[in-house]
Amino acid sequence: MDCIFCEIIKGNIPSTKVYEDDHVVAFNDLNPQMPVHVLIVPKKHIASAYDLTEQDADLVGRAFLASKVIADKLGLQNGYRIINNCGEDAGQTVKHIHFHMLGGKTMGEKII
Ligand code: AMP
Ligand code: ZN
Repeated sequence: MDCIFCEIIKGNIPSTKVYEDDHVVAFNDLNPQMPVHVLIVPKKHIASAYDLTEQDADLVGRAFLASKVIADKLGLQNGYRIINNCGEDAGQTVKHIHFHMLGGKTMGEKII
C-alpha cells in the first residue's frame, strides 16, 4: 500500500510531529494555510471518514481530544478550526483519514 501518512507514521518520511500517543499522531502540514496548520491522523489506516466502522468510533474521539493537548502546546486556547475533507467532492487528496487543525489568527471566512 502506498500511503504517505502511513510512511510518516512509520518514520520513513520526515515530519514535524507536535503530538503522538498510541493511537494518534499530529504533525505540521507541509503547505500551511494558517499560522498553525496541523494534521491530526489516526495511526490506523482508514481511507476516509466514509470508511469508518463502529470499531473506529473511539479513534475519532481521540483525535479531537488530541486537539486540546495541541491547542495548549501551540497557544490556540482562543480557538481553532477542525476540518475533515472526505472523498472526491470534498477535495480529499491523501486517502488516509486526517483532521486539519487550523489556528493562530482570527478566521473571517466561514463556509458554515
Ligand atoms: P486533504 O486535501 O484534506 O487530503 O489534505 C492533505 C494535506 O496533506 C494537504 O494539506 C497537504 O499539504 C498535506 N500533506 C501532503 N503531504 C504531506 C507531507 N509529506 N507532510 C505533511 N503534510 C502533507
Ligand atoms: Zn495510511
